[in-house]
Amino acid sequence: MSDHVATMVAEVRERIAAARARGGHGQDVTLIAVTKTHGPDAVMAAANAGVHDVGENKVQEAESKMAQVTVPVRWHLIGHLQRNKAKNAAKFDLVHSLDSERLAVALDDAAGEAQRVLEVLVQVNVSGESTKSGFALHDLATVAARLHACSNLRVRGVMTMAPFDAEESVLRTVFRGARDARAQLQAAGFGADWLSMGMSGDYEVAVEEGATHVRLGTVLFGSRT
Ligand SMILES: *Cc1c(COP(=O)(O)O)cnc(C)c1O
Repeated sequence: MSDHVATMVAEVRERIAAARARGGHGQDVTLIAVTKTHGPDAVMAAANAGVHDVGENKVQEAESKMAQVTVPVRWHLIGHLQRNKAKNAAKFDLVHSLDSERLAVALDDAAGEAQRVLEVLVQVNVSGESTKSGFALHDLATVAARLHACSNLRVRGVMTMAPFDAEESVLRTVFRGARDARAQLQAAGFGADWLSMGMSGDYEVAVEEGATHVRLGTVLFGSRT
């Protein structure tokens, strides 16, 4: 597995650099290797290839890998989180999927109990697809007011997912919507610089539109069975 992952990481990094130059936003881009459904060997292969940011969408699956992985990596929670699992989320380095006010309160409590500040991204649902989690853009002002009261959370930016297999114009609309959401959070006083957007099928467009974090599974590890 390791050789293949290293080859793919090198190719993806080149594509990211080219997309970044085309987009002209001048941002740094963090590559997150999404290891969901794969074993701890995928995490090790990513780390060996120089990728030290790992994304998981389920808390339990991630916890089992955390226990087995011996190299230091940063763990990103990218999937929808149930409130009753908020306590476990305090183990992650960054939670991308803050998608409700109630979850914000639960995460704030969990971080407080763990005596740490938890970094989070606000997930936005730009396209309005009912299958996707996240806040609508027009709710962000209200959300921001609520988040200011969560003293154990540090809001670092926005996460979004584009519709699968969408046309480029749709992708760009979604990614610009996320940028707009980030601007709203910044206007509300958060130092929210990060934009987590872009998956295997759309990360080059996402980087052109200013993504600072791309979440890549399939392109690095092959399809999930
Ligand atoms: C699975 C997943 C990814 C990675 O998707 P690929 O298409 O395999 O790159 C990215 N983001 C989230 C939220 C995911 O659940």
